[in-house]
Amino acid sequence: YKMHHKPIENGWIEVICGSMFCGKTEELLRRLRRAEIANLKVKAFKAKIDSRYSKDKIVSHDKNTIDSIPLSYSSDLFDLGNQYDVVGIDEAQFFDDDLVTVCKNLAKNNTRVIIAGLDKDYKGLPFGPMPLIMCEADYLDKLSAICMKCGKDASHTQRTTTQTEQILIGEADAYEARCRGCFNLDKNK
Ligand code: ZN
Repeated sequence: YKMHHKPIENGWIEVICGSMFCGKTEELLRRLRRAEIANLKVKAFKAKIDSRYSKDKIVSHDKNTIDSIPLSYSSDLFDLGNQYDVVGIDEAQFFDDDLVTVCKNLAKNNTRVIIAGLDKDYKGLPFGPMPLIMCEADYLDKLSAICMKCGKDASHTQRTTTQTEQILIGEADAYEARCRGCFNLDKNK
């Protein structure tokens, strides 16, 4: 039996996905802050690969921050995350497929798991473990950005440089949000 009874009776998995610049991280931070206000034990994690702004913080595009633990492997997440009522994971697309099993186990152990990540890579293909975790989600929100060409709702991430590796850490210098019509696989600009 557990000495510490978490106030949440059952855990669950929430997923926030969408293209770049859709406000995923901002929404993740908003939910984590609300859990903190509710006096729940909250912790944020992110993949070690993502050090765009800060090595141990999650930073949204509008520069809100929360302290986070960088992880190399999703298997490290269970023991760490199990000590908290609410666990947030940013840039989940950079994790390995074990992330799904870890999140299921955390949720079964009464942890509320909130995951933010890119559903598609710059080629418009499913990114890392995101399709699996979206399938497992109890609650799924797909946010849209604004197309930087025409102003419609955007669901795609256009790379604006010529690099072809799937993981290229960048921001407005390397990516634009695009609608389906303006997304162009053949052109870089
Ligand atoms: Zn467009």
